[in-house]
Amino acid sequence: MNLASTLCVPLAPRLDTSGWVDSLRAIVGAESVLADPKELLAYECDGYTLQRHPPTAVVLPRTTAEVAAVVELCARLNLPIIPRGAGTSLCGGVLAVEGGVMIALTRMNRVLALDVRNRRALVEAGCVNAWVTREAAPHGLCYAPDPSSQPACTIGGNIATNSGGPHTLKYGVTTNHVLGLELVLPDGSVQWLGVTPDGGEDVEGYDLRGALIGSEGMFGVVTRALLRLIPTPTHWRTFLGVFDTVDEASHAVSDIIAAGIVPAALEMMDRLIVSALEEAYHFGFPLDAGAVLIIELDGLPAGLAAQAGVIEALCRGRGAREVRVARDEAERAALWKCRKRAFGAIGRLSPNYVTQDGVVPRSKLPQIMQFIQETSRRHDLRIPNVFHAGDGNIHPLILYDEREPGQVQRALAAGHDILTRCIELGGSVTGEHGIGVEKMDYMALQFTESDLDAMRTLRRVFDPDQRCNPHKMFPGSKRCSDFAVRKQAHA
Ligand SMILES: Cc1cc2nc3c(=O)[nH]c(=O)nc-3n(C[C@H](O)[C@H](O)[C@H](O)COP(=O)(O)OP(=O)(O)OC[C@H]3O[C@@H](n4cnc5c(N)ncnc54)[C@H](O)[C@@H]3O)c2cc1C
Repeated sequence: MNLASTLCVPLAPRLDTSGWVDSLRAIVGAESVLADPKELLAYECDGYTLQRHPPTAVVLPRTTAEVAAVVELCARLNLPIIPRGAGTSLCGGVLAVEGGVMIALTRMNRVLALDVRNRRALVEAGCVNAWVTREAAPHGLCYAPDPSSQPACTIGGNIATNSGGPHTLKYGVTTNHVLGLELVLPDGSVQWLGVTPDGGEDVEGYDLRGALIGSEGMFGVVTRALLRLIPTPTHWRTFLGVFDTVDEASHAVSDIIAAGIVPAALEMMDRLIVSALEEAYHFGFPLDAGAVLIIELDGLPAGLAAQAGVIEALCRGRGAREVRVARDEAERAALWKCRKRAFGAIGRLSPNYVTQDGVVPRSKLPQIMQFIQETSRRHDLRIPNVFHAGDGNIHPLILYDEREPGQVQRALAAGHDILTRCIELGGSVTGEHGIGVEKMDYMALQFTESDLDAMRTLRRVFDPDQRCNPHKMFPGSKRCSDFAVRKQAHA
């Protein structure tokens, strides 16, 4: 991969906004359009801060009809559109590489209806993930996908990236919990895919709902979704396994899965993360541990006791010096709060970091963790790890200081080495964060040209002009000049 090309991205051209920004204002109201360069700064990047490109304008619609009218206007003007939720993407998924109109769904954030009997929730796409469970909890229900960003990220963003989370090990990722969705296609027409809100089981023919989930905002703008709710687990057992080395903890993960146990969650944090978390939240983590595992079981009480015994024995068999059980709901909640705030605590370790998101077969966890340690030494950068170990979904956090010459390049090179090794070990370059702009070049390492052609063909079915979230996912995606030329041709 050419690292220079990754860094030297083209600047967005100044699109001529005269006229069409007023047309946007006429659709959504002046207070719902941002076009002042100072206001646009907040939208120039997401959680992946290595690249920045402000959009030409941001619209904040309140209804599907407004989204459709905005999208239809952009179709007529041949302008790129970039759907955006909370902007927590870690792969540059919402970068407006070529300018264009960003459609931010954050004002369409309601839980519209709860159908307790059928365990379903109808929500707007800008609804924050955690709000769904907050609304459903009094009825003994919850929305299972729980990304660590769940207090901020939106259901639309989760759908576009097929998000996972600690508890998706047992319950499945976003695609397993979205029954149907409303989509504004890039020509401005509105379609419902999958099960309809009135319960119509429209499941004959191709699963277009499934095709859309994980399409990273390139097929249209999701405006509403019908979600599956599950009963809130009432019995659980949550452990903290303390190990001297990452290697021991990695082997314990493989052993637990090999024993046929699928915990509700199985997460790993290494020494650097544990020390940052302890400094921030004072949970009582052992500071001299090489790694800790958070293991959660849920289910019927009788089964829990038997599985808990097996897990403790497996951990101790791999050298765990302590296996602590959360005493009550408060301690369990505190443990999860720490885990889910781990990325936030990284600020205590470094001014900058880039999060990688690779996958390896679970049996290969010891090898990849070893490789990450070697990579850290080779590039002279610290790389703490906090990740969904049960899924084999690693999140090495490569720490760097952009003010120090050469560190950005070394961080990129370290990420490249780790992701390439994931592929060599039979894994993948993303488990849940997506491809965005960050990993476009890796697609060619993982897929053949004909695989990529098939994906591009599917994309063109939804978006023939490739205006929807352009310059993402595919190596050699359209560059700014293409849109500048087409914009001029249109004028
Ligand atoms: C601290 C932290 C922890 C995280 N932990 C996890 C984790 O455990 N699991 C995980 O999977 N991810 C995690 N992430 C990554 C991120 O939160 C997810 O990818 C999330 O789904 C993005 O949601 P968002 O609303 O912020 O979307 P954005 O970042 O705004 O957008 C992400 C992508 O979705 C598209 N999109 C957004 N809304 C729509 C829409 N309505 N219609 C069509 N396309 C749309 C965008 O174009 C873009 O391609 C984490 C991020 C952070 C910062």
